[in-house]
Amino acid sequence: MDCIFCKINNGEIPSEKVYEDNDVFIIRDIDPKADKHYLMIPKRHYKLISEMTEEDGAALMRGLKKIPGLADQLGLKNGYRLVINQGDDAGQSVFHLHVHILGGQALDFPDLRKK
Ligand code: 5GP
Ligand code: ZN
Repeated sequence: MDCIFCKINNGEIPSEKVYEDNDVFIIRDIDPKADKHYLMIPKRHYKLISEMTEEDGAALMRGLKKIPGLADQLGLKNGYRLVINQGDDAGQSVFHLHVHILGGQALDFPDLRKK
């Protein structure tokens, strides 16, 4: 399948996984938008929340619940923000669902409405 994150998962594209278990893996974003910017990627390929099975949801939640225990080593002990871009308005650019993990600094929460 022609999916960057599946290729990273199976080693076709080399990448340092900062965390991995049976459900998910975490890599550094190649184009960071904060001092610390990681991606938590479910190992199973699906594009959207609307395509998730019950087991996909449980697997992603198991992954999310690992983050507090990793926060110190990932430089996120002061807090972090999780973002899932879905579809065109959100600017989703990789169509394999992933959770952005942003932190390592105080984060603005800007008004995104166009003025
Ligand atoms: P999206 O826009 O779909 O929410 O986020 C996709 C993210 O994947 C972007 O932040 C982008 O920088 C990141 N990304 C795209 N290709 C690669 C890659 O090959 N390696 C890594 N580590 N991140 C990538
Ligand atoms: Zn994929």
